[in-house]
Amino acid sequence: MKILSINTGSSSLKFSLFNMDTDEVLVSGLFERIGIDGSCYTIKNSEFKIKEDAELKDHADAIKILLDKLIELKIISSYDEIDGVGHRIVQGADHYDKSVIITDEVLEDIIKLSDLAPLHNPAHAIGIKAFKSILPNTPMVAVFDTAFHQTMSKDKFLYAVPYEWYEKHGVRRYGAHGTSHNYISQTISKELGRDDLKVISCHLGQGASVTAIDSGKCVNTSMGFTPLAGLVMGTRSGDIDVSLVPYVMEKEGLSAGEVVTALNKKSGFLGISGVSSDSRDIEAGIKEGNERCKIAEEMFVNSVVKYIAEYYVELGGCDVIVFTAGIGENSAATREAIAEKLAVLGVKIDKKANDVRGELKCISAKDSKIKLYLVPTNEELMIAKDTLALIK
Ligand code: ADP
Repeated sequence: MKILSINTGSSSLKFSLFNMDTDEVLVSGLFERIGIDGSCYTIKNSEFKIKEDAELKDHADAIKILLDKLIELKIISSYDEIDGVGHRIVQGADHYDKSVIITDEVLEDIIKLSDLAPLHNPAHAIGIKAFKSILPNTPMVAVFDTAFHQTMSKDKFLYAVPYEWYEKHGVRRYGAHGTSHNYISQTISKELGRDDLKVISCHLGQGASVTAIDSGKCVNTSMGFTPLAGLVMGTRSGDIDVSLVPYVMEKEGLSAGEVVTALNKKSGFLGISGVSSDSRDIEAGIKEGNERCKIAEEMFVNSVVKYIAEYYVELGGCDVIVFTAGIGENSAATREAIAEKLAVLGVKIDKKANDVRGELKCISAKDSKIKLYLVPTNEELMIAKDTLALIK
C-alpha cells in the first residue's frame, strides 16, 4: 500500500510517499513558491535528488506535477496506486480528538477553525480541495496536531481568565506538535515494552514543546492557545507577562499585531542573541565567547527544565524523558545541560552514550532514576499510519 503524507502551507506543499508494507519512504520533497514567481520543486530519496523550476499557479498544478513525476520515475504506474492521502492539520480544536476520514463536513470544520489558526488551516483546506480535484476517489485523512492533547483535563487546559471567553470564543490551551509527541509516546512504549509509562517528551526544534504523557495519554503540554507559549524557541518568546504587550505598543509605536509578530518572529534565540534563531549558530557563538548567545542557551535550557520539573510533579514521577526534533536529536551539549540541571531528581546522563545524533538510543547512566532517551521523531510516518488505519 502506498500512502502520501502531506503538509500544505499557503505557498508550499511538503510530501512523503510511504510504502506501508515496510514503513519506508519511497520519495519525499517540497513544492515551493506556489502562486508566486520563481516556483520550484524538489523530489528526492536515498538514490537521487531532482530540483526543477516549474510554473505552479496553484496547489493543483503542484499535485499534478508530483503524480506525473512519480509515474515518470516508475515509483507508481498510475494515479490509482496512491491508496490514501494523509493531511497534517494544525488546528482541530476540541472538535477532533483523533484523526478522521475527510468528508465535506470535516473540510468545512477545518475552514471554520481558521479563526484559531489563520496562517495554517486555510492553506490545509486549499491542499485538500486540490487533491480532491485530482484524486476524487482516493480516501483522505485529516491528522490534527492538536488531537493528542485533547485528553488534558479542564484544570490543565483552561486559563484563569473569565470563563465565558472559553465558552464563547474557545480561549484555552490547545497545544501543538501532537503528532510528534504521539509518535514519541508510541515508539518509547514499544521500545521499553510497557504501555503504562510516565513519559516527558521534549520536542526541541525551531518550534519547541514539552508534553507530559501518562500511559500513552497527554496530561499537559507547554504550548498554549497558540504555539507562541511555553519554551523559549528559535524565534518565539515562549511564556511572557502579557502586560508587556500594551507597554511595548506605546513605547515603540506598534500595533498589537506587530508586537505579537515580534514575539513570534524576532524573539527567542534570535531576540536574545541578536545573532541567529538556529541553535548551531548559538553554540558557535558560545564557543567564540559571545555573552548573549550564552544567555540565550541558558534561557532555553531553563525553560525546558522548568517544564520537566512541573510535569514530573504532575505525573507523580517519571519513567523516561525523551529528546527529539532538530535540537533534541542533534545537540549533545543541550541534552547534557538539561540533564545536569535535573540532577536533583536523580537524573544522570551517560556522556559517552550521549555523543550521538539522530538515532534511537538510551543516553542515561545505569543508575539514573529517570531514563533518558533520544528518539528521532517522524511526524510524516505517523500521519501515514493514521491514514492507513482509517482507510483499511
Ligand atoms: P522545525 O521542524 O520546528 O522547523 P527542526 O526540528 O527541523 O525544526 O529543528 C531545526 C532546528 O534544529 C534548527 O533551527 C537548529 O536549531 C537545530 N539543529 C539542527 N541540527 C543541529 C545540530 N547539528 N546541532 C544543533 N542544533 C541543530
